[in-house]
Amino acid sequence: MTNRQNERTALDLKAVAERAGRDLEDAPALDVLRWAADTFGTRWCVTSSMEDAVVAHLASRALPGVDVVFLDTGYHFPETIGTRDAVEAVMDVNVVTLTPRRTVAEQDAEHGPRLHDRDPDQCCALRKVQPLEEGLKGYDAWVTGLRRDNSPTRADTPVVAWDEKRGKVKISPIARWTQDDVDAYVAEHGVLTNPLLQDGYPSIGCAPCTRRVPAGEDPRAGRWAGRAKTECGLHG
Ligand code: SF4
Repeated sequence: MTNRQNERTALDLKAVAERAGRDLEDAPALDVLRWAADTFGTRWCVTSSMEDAVVAHLASRALPGVDVVFLDTGYHFPETIGTRDAVEAVMDVNVVTLTPRRTVAEQDAEHGPRLHDRDPDQCCALRKVQPLEEGLKGYDAWVTGLRRDNSPTRADTPVVAWDEKRGKVKISPIARWTQDDVDAYVAEHGVLTNPLLQDGYPSIGCAPCTRRVPAGEDPRAGRWAGRAKTECGLHG
């Protein structure tokens, strides 16, 4: 494909994103994902942290066998890996596990141990942002589980938008959902959830950067606790 064709494709996708951003802002999550299946065929994927499988479940209703991308940073809780394996075993999805270029041991040798304590932005860039960018190359659109009620930094999350940085359509079908909406969907459809959600972790990331949160506290207060960092860079 020539550069000119690449550029035209990106411009087309951008126009699709902008139109859908207006048209689908108030659409139900399943309708948004059915639109994704109609528009992109199989050239879209769901990204999941395996906190729960709500968006993966919704997407599998829109496109059975849909790709569900999981970033295996090498630092996950065993429960998160177990949730990934359970999703792969029981749901009508194709789990795609992305790994960083370096193992944790190789990263330790190159940058010194516990980079996550000394420079979490660099650690996230190496173990999350870079693998995701490489892993998304074959898709026109990616789906996230972002919700506006996750945190003030996510309060303006659009349902469909143009991801300029990656040249993809970015879809957040449950952006308008609340935690109650998620809980109701999990209960109604028997959706798999990470057992750590019942063990004091309302938001689950890598083990070294996630702690339990007392009831009533900001659910994301346990991520990079004690640091100014609030996001891993995937959604910047
Ligand atoms: Fe590294 Fe922590 Fe980011 Fe995981 S969340 S990639 S351990 S800094």
